[in-house]
Amino acid sequence: MPGMEKLLRGVLRYRNGVRQELIPQFERVRDNPEPTAILFTCMDSRMLPTRFCQTNVGDMFMVRNAGNLIPHSELFCGDSLNTEPAALELACIKNDINHVIVCGHSDCKAMNCLYGIRNVTSHDKDKNPFAAWLAKFGKASLNAFKEVERGSKSPLKFTGETPKHNFEAFIDPDDKFGIEDKLSQVNCLQQLQNISSYGFLKDRLESGRVRLHAMWFDIYAGDVYLFSRQAKRFVEINEETCNDLLKDCEHQKCHPIED
Ligand SMILES: [Zn+2]
Repeated sequence: MPGMEKLLRGVLRYRNGVRQELIPQFERVRDNPEPTAILFTCMDSRMLPTRFCQTNVGDMFMVRNAGNLIPHSELFCGDSLNTEPAALELACIKNDINHVIVCGHSDCKAMNCLYGIRNVTSHDKDKNPFAAWLAKFGKASLNAFKEVERGSKSPLKFTGETPKHNFEAFIDPDDKFGIEDKLSQVNCLQQLQNISSYGFLKDRLESGRVRLHAMWFDIYAGDVYLFSRQAKRFVEINEETCNDLLKDCEHQKCHPIED
């Protein structure tokens, strides 16, 4: 089993190289940590956000799970406990972080599985916790996705930071991606709605101290996308789009939707 050998050899290379660069950085942030974002992303081994965002020590918190799901607060009841709301409180309330980012990706095994089990009604959570997790917390994404699957060209509607920040989304309007990847994009946006369901964030979401963003990584092309409320779609982050995307984030005003 070569897996552990690879990791341990990696630790040796780290000790002889990058460790010396990191120690002063750890020291620098010890008494003055200033992370500016919390990133929820998938556990997929190909997802390397610290590389494609070029972030460093102290820059952002990260939470990873299968399918970058954040359970809706309605599902966080009774005796159930989840990491994701705890991480939101730690980041946004205890550490005053302003930006919450949900980052999905193409060829996501969790989203492929969620699509595959979309018509299965019950799951044995003891025998198949993966499917049970996806079915329970991915249900809202599947519901939102139905319009896309039907081939509707109308934009999907999502709740943003508050009901006044509702936004519309055209999913893959250029039809570049497969059906599971379209579900993955819908799933990212659905998580913003789920995050906004937590009462402990309400004041910060209303005042704009906490803002929600959706990113998406196209694994095989290596392209990174950010959802633009203005453009109502995921826009590739590149030299031409970066400034406009930044403005869109900074001036993330309400974009009221007519009912
Ligand atoms: Zn994934």
